[in-house]
Amino acid sequence: MPFVEKEKYHIPRRCRFHPDNDIYRDQEQHKFHTDINEWQCGYCKKSFYEEKHLDQHFDNRHSNLLNLVDTSSSILFLILPLMEKCLKYL
Ligand SMILES: [Zn+2]
Repeated sequence: MPFVEKEKYHIPRRCRFHPDNDIYRDQEQHKFHTDINEWQCGYCKKSFYEEKHLDQHFDNRHSNLLNLVDTSSSILFLILPLMEKCLKYL
């Protein structure tokens, strides 16, 4: 999240938005676009024609490798109600 890095906000380690808890970051780092129609899994090197199939593969085959974090500790639960309030006044 660029604004978090720019403002140097401190995100608790338990929060889902902490870089270490970003499950999609790990997934993205293991997603290789090797050719126009070729996406390769960084965990098992299996190739797919479309990115969405690789995403499904991550869910089906490697969900145990993704760092699933308890969402109840997320700052999203603090931010969303505030955002809703702000939007009401627009
Ligand atoms: Zn794989």
